[in-house]
Amino acid sequence: MKLTISNLSKTYPNGVKALDDVSLEIPTGMFGLLGPNGAGKSTLMRTLATLQEADSGTVTLGDIDVLKDKGSVRKTLGYLPQEFGVYPRMSAYAMLDYIAVLKGVYQASERKELINALLEKVNLYQHRKKNISGFSGGMKQRFGIAQSLIGNPSLIIVDEPTAGLDPGERNRFYNLLAEIGENVIVILSTHIVQDVRELCRQMAIIDKGKLLFSGSPDDAISSLHGKIWEKSISKDEMDSHSKTHRLISSKLVAGKPLIHIYEDADPGNGFRSSEADLEDVFFTRIAGLA
Ligand code: ADP
Ligand code: MG
Repeated sequence: MKLTISNLSKTYPNGVKALDDVSLEIPTGMFGLLGPNGAGKSTLMRTLATLQEADSGTVTLGDIDVLKDKGSVRKTLGYLPQEFGVYPRMSAYAMLDYIAVLKGVYQASERKELINALLEKVNLYQHRKKNISGFSGGMKQRFGIAQSLIGNPSLIIVDEPTAGLDPGERNRFYNLLAEIGENVIVILSTHIVQDVRELCRQMAIIDKGKLLFSGSPDDAISSLHGKIWEKSISKDEMDSHSKTHRLISSKLVAGKPLIHIYEDADPGNGFRSSEADLEDVFFTRIAGLA
């Protein structure tokens, strides 16, 4: 099974081009869709989830025409939207039971077995009788995964699932996602580089609706080998350095800016070579430098 996106474009009525001729092949396993806020990730996710129309292009999932045959996609889709909306004052168990009925699991005993297994899987069994509205961010996201897994989907879409989670919650969530399996397509959309680094063997980077990279994180990182240079500077050196070098990122380390620049050869000027990482890839691609 494979998801194939070809020349997908979407312009909103206000003129924003959210998807600009995106073509992408997504194999089974965990796939990371990385991009800054406003890149077009949610637009793409909603289009794949059949909730929104594209202007042009095609998408196929195996032999399903995703944009035309929405019913077939929905039968095999698990979706965790970025905004889950209002969390009902309903217990986790009751809500899963309700969703399972909607998804066509009509037999009560089958439903009970399924829901208990899912609650165990996402580590919410002991909280099954509590209202979802009172759950922590991490618990809500794990609940979201449980509901998305009902009906054995072959395509699972999770849109920015780790935003707002604390480090412990994020780790638990990573472990859960990593377990979901190799035989389904899982698309994880995120602006957090670490999400992709830890979970995904294949990835894409998008910004302003355009595809900037697709491939493996390792390949992306190797392509920058020997081209990333770093230097710790003072705050008032920032201006001059960003004028004379191709700055890709700056972060404060103990209150002092540590800058990364992109250069084919040693720039001198006190820079030292830095081992490229996925964050360098992200910023280099977004800046259009590689
Ligand atoms: P991301 O999920 O990567 O943050 P989105 O797909 O939400 O990106 O948004 C992409 C661009 O489209 C942004 O500029 C956003 O403001 C715009 N946009 C998103 N939804 C709408 C909409 N319903 N109407 C108009 N513009 C929209
Ligand atoms: Mg989004």
